[in-house]
Amino acid sequence: MIKTRFAPSPTGQLHIGNIRTALFAYLYARHTGGKFILRIEDTDIERSHEDFTVALMEDMRWLGLEWDEGPDAGGGNGPYRQSERLAIYKEYAEKLVSEGRAYYCYCSEEEIEERKAKLEAEGKPPHYDGKCRHLSAAERKTLEAEGRVPVIRFWSYEEDFEFDDVVKGNVKFPKGMVGDFVILRSNGLPLYNFAVVIDDMLMEVSHVLRADEHLSNTVRQLMIYKACGVKSPVFAHMALVLGPDKKKLSKRHGATSVDEFRKMGYLPESLLNYLALLGWSSPDGREILSKDDLIKLFDLDRLSTSPAIFDPVKLDWIAKHDVINSDIERIFNLALPYIMETGLIDDAYLSDTKNRDFLKGVVQLTRGYCSRLSQIKEHIDYFLNDDFEIHPDAMAFLKKDTSAPVINAFRELILKETGDVGEEQFVKIADEISRRTGVKGKNLFMPLRAALTGRPHGPEIYFLIPVIGSERTVKRLDRALGLIG
Ligand code: GLU
Repeated sequence: MIKTRFAPSPTGQLHIGNIRTALFAYLYARHTGGKFILRIEDTDIERSHEDFTVALMEDMRWLGLEWDEGPDAGGGNGPYRQSERLAIYKEYAEKLVSEGRAYYCYCSEEEIEERKAKLEAEGKPPHYDGKCRHLSAAERKTLEAEGRVPVIRFWSYEEDFEFDDVVKGNVKFPKGMVGDFVILRSNGLPLYNFAVVIDDMLMEVSHVLRADEHLSNTVRQLMIYKACGVKSPVFAHMALVLGPDKKKLSKRHGATSVDEFRKMGYLPESLLNYLALLGWSSPDGREILSKDDLIKLFDLDRLSTSPAIFDPVKLDWIAKHDVINSDIERIFNLALPYIMETGLIDDAYLSDTKNRDFLKGVVQLTRGYCSRLSQIKEHIDYFLNDDFEIHPDAMAFLKKDTSAPVINAFRELILKETGDVGEEQFVKIADEISRRTGVKGKNLFMPLRAALTGRPHGPEIYFLIPVIGSERTVKRLDRALGLIG
C-alpha cells in the first residue's frame, strides 16, 4: 500500500512551502487509495511548541487535508509525536550498537571541534575521527567515572550511495562524504536523520515527499536503512517555492503562512488549488481545480524540477473565481465577521431579517470584487452609510460641467418610476438622460456612480439601485448636487 506522510517540526506557523509539501503527500495518498500520516517531529525541545502543533493541525483541517494516522487520529504505528517515541529510538540505537554499526561516544563538543580543526588544517575532511569506535568495556567505565555521558554515534559506511529520486533523477553520494554521525544525544533525544528513518520504517511509509533542502540528508538516511536491513522508501525531493523576485519565499514577500491567508479571508479551496500549482501542473492544462479534480489528476510524474514562483496575482485570480461561484449563503456567513469589523453594524442590526437580507444582497453584489473576504469591507461603507466619503477620482467626475444636468435628469426620471429599477428600466432612463442633456457614455455613468457610491468603480448601477432602494438613491443624488454646488 502507498503510504505518505507529512512530518512538520512545530517550530512556527505553517508556511506556504511546508503546506505545499503536505498537500502533495496528501494528494498522492488519496490518488492511489493509500494512507496519509501526520507525524509531529518535535524533538527539538527548545524550538518546538504545542501551540504550533495545535495550529498546524487546525490549518490542515481548514484546508481539508485530513490524515488517516496521526496524533488524535490513531493508527497502528503510533505514537505520532516523536517526543513520545523516545523509548523506540533508544531501542533501535542500542540495537545498532549491539550489531557494531553504532557506538557510544564520550568525546565532548570541544574535543571534537579541536580535532576537526586539526584535520582541516591538514587538508583532510573534518569528520569525526573514530576515536571511540573501539572502546573496551573497561575504557567506557573509566570515561563514565569521569562523569561523561555518551551519545550514540553511527559508524558510517565507507562506500558510495545512490538512489533514484522521483524529481531529481539519479542522485549519487560518493564515499567519504559523511563521517560517523550522532544518532542519539546524551539526553536521549534522537537526531533528525535517525528518528525520521526509524519512524518512516516503522510506519511503513512508502513514499517520502519533502523539500529539496533535505536532499543532502538522504545519504545518512540511506545508511541507516541499510544498517536496519530495510529497503528505503521512494523519495521525491521537491523544488523550492520562491517569491516573485525569485528569492526564497519569506516575510518580505507579504503573507507566507496558512494562518495569514485564512485570516485575510481566502477560501480554503482557493489556497488549496493554488498550492497544487506550485510545482505541479495538471495533464490537461486546467488551472481551476477542485480538491476532487486534484485527487483524480495528481501524480508524481508531473512534479516540476525547477523552483515554483509564488504569484499572488494568480492566487487572487483563482480566489476571485471561487468567491463568485461559491454558495452565497456560505460567502455571506464567511464575510459577516469582516463586515462586523467595520463597526457599521451590530448584533441588534443583524437580528432583523430584513437587514440580513439587505446585507446578503450587498455581498452578492460586491463579491465579484473580492478575492478574499476581508475585501468586502471596502465595499460595505457606501451601502450602509449615506454619508460615505467621496473618492477624489469620483469627485473629479462630479465637478464636470455636464454632471449636474445628468444627475438632475436622473433624479427626475427615477422619481417617476414606480417599480424596481433594474437593467431594462435603467437603460431606458439612461437613453432619456442622454436625449435631454446630450451627454453619453462615461460622462453620463460616472457622475451617477460617483453620486451613488462615492467611487469610480463598483457594481453596475442597475444592480445597485434595487439594493439601495429608490428613496436612498434620491437622497444620494441630492447630496451630490449639494456638493457640486
Ligand atoms: N521535520 C522535517 C522538516 O520539517 C521533516 C523532513 C522530512 O520530511 O523528512 O523539515
